[in-house]
Amino acid sequence: MSETSATSLPVTEPLPAPAPAKRVDVASLSLEALTCFVTETLGERAFRAPQIYRWLHQRGATSFDEMTDLSKALREKLKAVADIVPLVKDVELRSIDGTIKYRWKTHDGRYIESVYMPSEDRKTLCVSTQVGCAMACGFCMTGTMGLKRNLTPGEIVAQVHAVNREVRKNEGLETLRPLSNLVFMGMGEPLHNFENLKTALSILQSEDGPNFSHRHITVSTVGLVPMIERFGQETDVKLAISLNASTDEQRNKTMPVNRKWNIAALLDACRKFPLRQGRRITFEYVLIKGFNDADEDAHRLIELLKDIPVKVNLIPYNENPGLGFHTTGEERAEQFRAILADHHIAAYIRKNRGRDIAGACGQLANRGDAAPADGAT
Ligand code: SF4
Repeated sequence: MSETSATSLPVTEPLPAPAPAKRVDVASLSLEALTCFVTETLGERAFRAPQIYRWLHQRGATSFDEMTDLSKALREKLKAVADIVPLVKDVELRSIDGTIKYRWKTHDGRYIESVYMPSEDRKTLCVSTQVGCAMACGFCMTGTMGLKRNLTPGEIVAQVHAVNREVRKNEGLETLRPLSNLVFMGMGEPLHNFENLKTALSILQSEDGPNFSHRHITVSTVGLVPMIERFGQETDVKLAISLNASTDEQRNKTMPVNRKWNIAALLDACRKFPLRQGRRITFEYVLIKGFNDADEDAHRLIELLKDIPVKVNLIPYNENPGLGFHTTGEERAEQFRAILADHHIAAYIRKNRGRDIAGACGQLANRGDAAPADGAT
């Protein structure tokens, strides 16, 4: 018996069934990964990849049929193995200050929110990175939901494409990308979904995509210390820290993450963070009445931040029913800001946008609408 026949399978034994082909979520692929997919899976020439990518991420195409400069045969090939996973507008709430909160339904029946904040000199979108959030900050409505799942890169980016479409339509604009700034401060902790965030950023910053400048993107974290280091090494966008306390005792009460990485560990990571020239780290400080808004808090904050290039955004708390915290009055907020300013810390009181539609910081939790509060159907 020859070696070949000795090792070959008996003809009667059935071959294992091929695994069902997994459909590809094309809008979640970086340009590199899309190129591999186009050449290896579809057997097409590499130049097709940027063509498809531009349809997806410059024009925000939601179907392969829109890609009119691809042959019909290629579009059919794409439809056979790939999807452009939809994000469907479910609710739109408009604030008297011009802010618009959008709620989107995902393909698996979850709900997420993004908040559009136009101002004279910029059009900013606050983007979500997870359905719900695991961080359980005591003052935040999203924190009451728990984490349902991570958003895919495609779902993160789709919020930007969808709002670009809305702004074009609502404001009668021709430009493909009316949004000028992105802040990752919506539902979820961005660094808890780091790989997907990173892919989404690579798409959003791509010249063949929406081409946002690193100067116009800010990612906010509650302080996942090891991830701050990776974020600094692997991306070039701006960092914001959601601090909200001047002592560990205070922070432990409202931000469970502080029990794992305390203020000292967090600030140490900030000191090591690779800052581009002239750049500062933004510290977000939610002012909660009688909790963290005393003169002593301001002085402790000065001490904590003294050797870090910072800008401090003071955010008078947006009250949420049932969470038991109250907002700091305007006068107290201004006194707090003045103490920081007197010690040469650039501090600004952030205008509250979209409070009347529960679209302000810490208020995103699919509240007041038909869907259940946990975001699932
Ligand atoms: S403040 Fe941010 S990190 Fe904290 S629970 Fe809310 S969404 Fe999550």
